[in-house]
Amino acid sequence: MARLLGYTHPACLDHDTGLEHPECADRLGSVLEAVHDAFPGIEWIEAPRATRGQLLRVHDERLLATVLSPPPHGTLHLDPDTVVSPGSPEAALRAAGAGVAAVDAVMHGETDVAFCAVRPPGHHATVDAAMGFCLFNNIAVSAAHALDRFGLGRVAIIDFDVHHGNGTQAIFEHDPRVLYLSTHQAGIYPWSGAGNERGAGNVVNMPLPAGAGGGAFRQAWREELLPALRSFEPQLVLVSAGFDGDRRDPMAQFDLEPADFGWLTGELMREAAHHAQGRIVSMLEGGYHLGALAEGAVAHVAALLEADAGTGPR
Ligand SMILES: [Zn+2]
Repeated sequence: MARLLGYTHPACLDHDTGLEHPECADRLGSVLEAVHDAFPGIEWIEAPRATRGQLLRVHDERLLATVLSPPPHGTLHLDPDTVVSPGSPEAALRAAGAGVAAVDAVMHGETDVAFCAVRPPGHHATVDAAMGFCLFNNIAVSAAHALDRFGLGRVAIIDFDVHHGNGTQAIFEHDPRVLYLSTHQAGIYPWSGAGNERGAGNVVNMPLPAGAGGGAFRQAWREELLPALRSFEPQLVLVSAGFDGDRRDPMAQFDLEPADFGWLTGELMREAAHHAQGRIVSMLEGGYHLGALAEGAVAHVAALLEADAGTGPR
């Protein structure tokens, strides 16, 4: 059984996106409740705030000012989808800080794997822009920390959210120390991630059509993406864990089931064991059907623990 630490913070519930916004606080509540019920033995740690220096490794000063200085009351739309509220700075700092702390923990051998149950999500945020519900790019901040703080030369980012992680790709596409691998639905937000977007040879995108189910998803990973990960020999595996590829999700049209997320996570555990001493840090991204999100997260965490879904870790 792998050792797993959970990272979260109550402030992540205070990022207020307004009425009927799909990226709502209930998402995180449902993940935390379901994972706690399935695995009551998991130790949860309160995420620290990311520092300015950690954020500035991937973002510019202007984005920090935008996210960290919301209006004192109400909400401000940064784009039609993306909102900051008075609670957003603390939520965004804790979400990014969770990944940094989790990287520290796995690199120092305090745990094998870590799951960061946080919001707002991050993988659409670019160097200078919040977008697509994302304020800071949590997974990119974590990767940059692994590169700078620990001097790693090979960090892999696995993105199985149904949307392409355009921000993550843009941040690292010229940095061969980072490998970015993604499956996502073709032809939907953010309309990037074509197969011919290869960065410096360190980006592999596998867009799949609407309706793609577990067969197509697993085939893409088994035949294309996992071999690329294996060849890269990652020293650390980071996961943008979005569960909006579930067939019940209202934001996209994949036909996946929780077991598909569990399967991929198990494969990542095997790959990480070969080259990365088992080190995996996973961060919550999307997932907008509360029940599907909770079940996907439980299947994912079960595989991270190398446990059967529904059984406690100890
Ligand atoms: Zn998504």
